[in-house]
Amino acid sequence: MTEAIPVPVQKLHGKVAIVTGAASGIGAVTARLIANHGALAVVIADVQDAKGREVVASIGSNRCTYVHCDVADEDQVKYLVDSTVKMYGRLDVMYSNAGIASPSRQTVLELDLSWFDKLMAVNVRGMAACVKHAARAMVEKGVKGSIVCTASIVAECGTEGVTDYTMSKIVMAVNARGMAACVKHAARAMVEKGVKGSIVCTASFVAECGTEGVTDYTMSKHAVLGLMRSASVQLVKHGVRVNCLSPGLVATPMFITGYNLGEEELSKTMAAVYTGSQYGPVKEKDLADAVVFLASEDSALITGQNLIVDGGFGAQAVSVLGQNGDSIG
Ligand code: NAD
Repeated sequence: MTEAIPVPVQKLHGKVAIVTGAASGIGAVTARLIANHGALAVVIADVQDAKGREVVASIGSNRCTYVHCDVADEDQVKYLVDSTVKMYGRLDVMYSNAGIASPSRQTVLELDLSWFDKLMAVNVRGMAACVKHAARAMVEKGVKGSIVCTASIVAECGTEGVTDYTMSKIVMAVNARGMAACVKHAARAMVEKGVKGSIVCTASFVAECGTEGVTDYTMSKHAVLGLMRSASVQLVKHGVRVNCLSPGLVATPMFITGYNLGEEELSKTMAAVYTGSQYGPVKEKDLADAVVFLASEDSALITGQNLIVDGGFGAQAVSVLGQNGDSIG
């Protein structure tokens, strides 16, 4: 776990970054890669204190600290951001990555609404709190920062029936503002200059790609896209960029322990999911590379985007998930 990842060019030299959910999985690997890209400081935020401190030790306590932060609690998120700015003077990168999965597969018929509330509190409310306080800190200090949220491949492929309807209500409540702002401002600029332009809005693949199970998780990740799109529109004038990363299936603790998968079951699932992909299963490092890209100057003109890193899995999702009814993270 202490393995250094060699990098040819330091893309985040001198930057101050927070990574939530960095005690494990994608967040832990990304935190190390951000550090290896020359970051001045990386703040690890999680609720698993012992594991979080192990990640700090692997990076070095001279430029990495751990803050216990339950992202579902806004006061804790505010403290996380404020203490980072107090200690390091600024915040350049917020990788809002903490998330939880559904405890079991469920269609809308079995939807467990008490778990739904918990999942929304972490995956949606928590993301919103992280984006809000990071954006405030950046705007206040005039930092042209980068905020990256972890969504999921399920944010681009919906579920069937009543769930879609419920989901569309949530998604539209969040998305409508961003969409309206885009359309309004693009239309104004075009009209003002007499340009016969074209405005294209992104909807979702929900009508074309249905899966069984993890209804609540799917809904939460759709909402994350809505949050990212709205925030990116609102913050562009401040030079703050907001993007999403959507991983395909990754063998992290969330997936393995969350679904109680034995070794054989795990390798069968991964093989089924990535059948036909020339790139093999997606690994944490693939996602960490994408976060560094979105956090660095390499993506200076990219905001409001959902970057899917799935090794071609999405193209096959309909057939694979349709056949065996499996759920995904
Ligand atoms: P993981 O379980 O290894 O890591 C998630 C981390 O988030 C853990 O360290 C956990 O302690 C932390 N966390 C959970 N609730 C928290 C809270 N309330 N406050 C702060 N931290 C909290 O899983 P992972 O796969 O690395 O997950 C990272 C992100 O990737 C999640 O948002 C997840 O939804 C997303 N994702 C994962 C997959 C996959 O297949 N593994 C696929 C798509 C999206």
